[in-house]
This record gives sequence, structure tokens and C-alpha cells, in this order.
Amino acid sequence: MTSSLAESVRSAISQIVGPGAAALHTPHFGGNELAYLKECIDSTFVSSVGKFVDRFEAELAAYTGAKHAVAVVNGTAALQVALGLAGVRAGDEVLVPTMTFVATANAVAYCGATPHFTDSEERTLGMDPRALREHLQGAATIRGGQCVNRETGRVIRALVPMHTFGHIVDIDGLLSVARDFNLTLVEDAAESLGSTAGDRHAGTFGLLATLSFNGNKVVTTGGGGAILTNDQALAREAKHLTTTAKVPHRWEYTHDRIGYNYRLPNVNAALGCAQLEQLPSFLDAKRRLFERYRAAFAGMSGLRLVEEPAGTRSNYWLQTIVLDASVAAQRDEVLAATNDAGLMTRPAWTLMHKLQPYLGSPRMELSVAESLEQRVINLPSSAHLEMART
Ligand SMILES: *Cc1c(COP(=O)(O)O)cnc(C)c1O
Repeated sequence: MTSSLAESVRSAISQIVGPGAAALHTPHFGGNELAYLKECIDSTFVSSVGKFVDRFEAELAAYTGAKHAVAVVNGTAALQVALGLAGVRAGDEVLVPTMTFVATANAVAYCGATPHFTDSEERTLGMDPRALREHLQGAATIRGGQCVNRETGRVIRALVPMHTFGHIVDIDGLLSVARDFNLTLVEDAAESLGSTAGDRHAGTFGLLATLSFNGNKVVTTGGGGAILTNDQALAREAKHLTTTAKVPHRWEYTHDRIGYNYRLPNVNAALGCAQLEQLPSFLDAKRRLFERYRAAFAGMSGLRLVEEPAGTRSNYWLQTIVLDASVAAQRDEVLAATNDAGLMTRPAWTLMHKLQPYLGSPRMELSVAESLEQRVINLPSSAHLEMART
């Protein structure tokens, strides 16, 4: 039998999305996509160079306020390269949230380093700076200016907070932990294009940050990502490394490093330019969608709808409810009742420290993330659910 909670959630979602099925998040192509793609194909510059890549990078920098943006093939590759540029080397440890998409942990592993898992905050769903500070006070020591894990003897090099579902993490608290423990902060801003804290955009707080333009993100290039930084030397290095470290020359192929073939093709950047033009309207629509969910869930007991943390503005990438601990056992009924009705909902990712490749990785006490894992549910969140109404 379906519980009344599951039935209430199903009914609230169906009231928001109207008749018929609803996916979790699908892209909307309502602008210059076809025109720019045609222009790109007509030019024959569909691949490694072209004006759309330059334009996309310039527009990303202008929009986010980062001094430099380097477009790459996807957000995972962006993270891998950003971590290398942040000084992460084989044998290091990197602090990452256990509640994240697998890319955050994998990027660390691609560098030959080990993810060291951190707990979440109930409020932001992101890394908890207070708990992390306490953990490091016990588990780490500063030796020769480096933060060293007392137990493993490895250097903890960097800290990679992630703005979960678009909600800005407690970035000030984390910057202060990074300062006090000599850690380089790299933001995984894959989910937070359009989110701000005060007057600063997500991805402009760390030494480097990364974005994703996968098909399910706020704007898409099909597949794509970007590295953001205010440091010109790092930006140049990012471009060089992601374009096979080829030394510029009219005909010679000389490579001064082991680089990567990670550049974003021009055809994907063309799509990105058209999508970026619509970002403000996507953000408006997603905020209106949030307001309607808020009204629909108002007064419903047993859950809360996740709202942007105070002092921040969220892009509301994925609308999210968090069940109260007392009804966590009903989560699967909620998932079944909604999905059975064609309303796609899903739980948060399986926590990283429970995944086979990371079972042996170092970690702090992860009780909040473990509790959230049982209670978080993402709701249909596409911008066009709202755009269709206006
Ligand atoms: C989407 C995402 C990425 C990058 O994903 P790609 O599919 O490689 O672009 C990284 N981290 C998080 C948290 C993400 O949600």
C-alpha cells in the first residue's frame, strides 16, 4: 500500500508538472542553437579550433567574473587538469565530499592521488567546514608547511568542495580551513553555473574551479566542461595541457609535455554559445519552478524542500526534498509512487566511500552524509517545465 507521504509527494509533483510524464532534467533548445551549428558546419571548423570556442570561453569568463575560462571536453577532464595545476601529485590525498557525483573522486584518482572523504552539512548538503576543521585538527599535522595525514603519512594537498544541486557550499568556512591547513581550494562548480554567494559567482573562490556542460546540466554543449581561474599563468597552462601541449608553430608538431587531447570541439562550443544566451531565462524559470514547488510542499509534514542558503543565490539546478529522519524508511515508496506515475525522481548518489574502488580510502566521520543519503530525493527540474507556462 502506498503511504500517505508518498501519495502527497506524487500529488504535489503532478500538480507542478501538469499532466503526463516528466523527466528529471532535460535540455531546452529555444534559441540560436541551429543557426550557430549551421554556421559552424558551413565554416568547416567543427573540431579543434574555431571562433565559437574563443567566444564561449570569453562569454563564460564575462558571465562568471572569472578572469579566464578554458573550455574542455567534459567536467571530469576539467577537474583532472585543474587538480594537476593545483599541485596534486601521485601519492597525495585530496579532500572531497563523499556525497557527490563520482567524477569528483575519479578526477583525484586520475592524478594518482587518493580521495579523502568528508562529511556534508544538513543545510547546504555540501562539505561541512566545522566538522572538517575538527577532523583535520585530530587527523592531520603541518609538517614543513604541508598538511600531512598522521595515519597514512601522505600529504593532503587540496580541498574540492562541490556546490550540491546548485546550492552554494559554506565557502567562507572552507576557505578558512584551506588557509589554516595549507590546502589549495579547487571548486567543483559543475552543478552551479548561475549560482552566486554575495556578488561572486560559484567557481571564483578557489585557485581554480571547474564547470560541466553535460546534457543534464543547466546549460549544455552536448558534452563539455571548463576550467575557471583568475591566474593568467594557470589559465595558459590549462590551455596548453588540454591541447596536447603542442608548441605553437606553423607546421611543426612539437609537444613539450605529456598533454591531453581535452579541448572542446568548435561544434560543441557553438551549441554552448546559443545556450549561454538563454541562461538568464533558464535561471528565471528554475526559480519560478522552485517557488511553485515551495507552495505545493508548504505545510506538508515529514520533509523540507531545499532552499538556497542565506546570503546566496542558487541556480536551482535540481529541485530537492529531504525527508525527516523519522520517515526516511518511506523513501523508496516515494520513489516508486512518483516513478510509477511517470514523474522521475531519484535519490542522491551512492556515497563515494561505499563504492568498490574507494572502500579503502581515508575518511572522516560521515554520519550526516550517510543520513542524507537515505533522505534526499531530486524532483523533476527542467527549466522548460516552467517556460512552457509563459
Ligand atoms: C556533472 C558533474 C561533473 C562533471 O561531469 P561531466 O559529465 O564529466 O561533464 C563533475 N562533478 C559533479 C558534481 C557533477 O555533477
